[in-house]
Amino acid sequence: RFIAFEGGEGAGKSTQAKLLADALRSRGFTVDVTREPGGTPGAEAIRKLLLHPPGEGDAGWGAKAEALLFAAARADHVERRILPAVEAGNWVVCDRFVDSSRAYQGGAGGLGDQAIVALHDFGSDGLRPDLTILLQADPDKVAERLAIRDGTEADAIGGRSAEYHRQVAKRFVALAEADPTGFAVIDGSADEDTVHRKVLEALEPLVAG
Ligand code: C5P
Repeated sequence: RFIAFEGGEGAGKSTQAKLLADALRSRGFTVDVTREPGGTPGAEAIRKLLLHPPGEGDAGWGAKAEALLFAAARADHVERRILPAVEAGNWVVCDRFVDSSRAYQGGAGGLGDQAIVALHDFGSDGLRPDLTILLQADPDKVAERLAIRDGTEADAIGGRSAEYHRQVAKRFVALAEADPTGFAVIDGSADEDTVHRKVLEALEPLVAG
């Protein structure tokens, strides 16, 4: 089984991915917890390039190059880690997957959904999670909270506006609405245990099946 967590930054994806993995392991499943961009040596190297664009004082990656780098990282991750684990009968819990690219680069970044889906079809044979859990959080509140917590920018890529992150949040909701059986939408602003319980409820049909 392949489960993805999606949502903006600070929505609790990585915490909930770990809690879910622990719960599945306590039921006897073998679980691989991973994240995007990253999850393999090659994809982690691409992650560094994305978060720290080479070159001094430039404006970072262009939109298309950025989308291609995300797709390349994902292709490596799918081929070398996600598919082998799923094929071995294990669970894979992934912090972000292609819908992040659809929301960020395709939606807020303006490349459009078709381009991102086409890259994903080419790079990763269009692999979809068995279930995508969208953790919803108000991007403005998250920005405030992360700034207070870290004293740094909420956005690791940086240079993107609050409006960009509002667009990301809207796009995630639209993707979930377009595919109600593929998504579970959960309010990520509730406390950790409440969110975890809702995640388990959403997963129950897959665990039982
Ligand atoms: O999930 P995480 O916060 O580690 O993501 C790292 C950074 O990459 C974040 O700033 C996030 O906004 C960005 N990102 C992105 N497009 C994606 C996935 C992540 O801009 N498709």
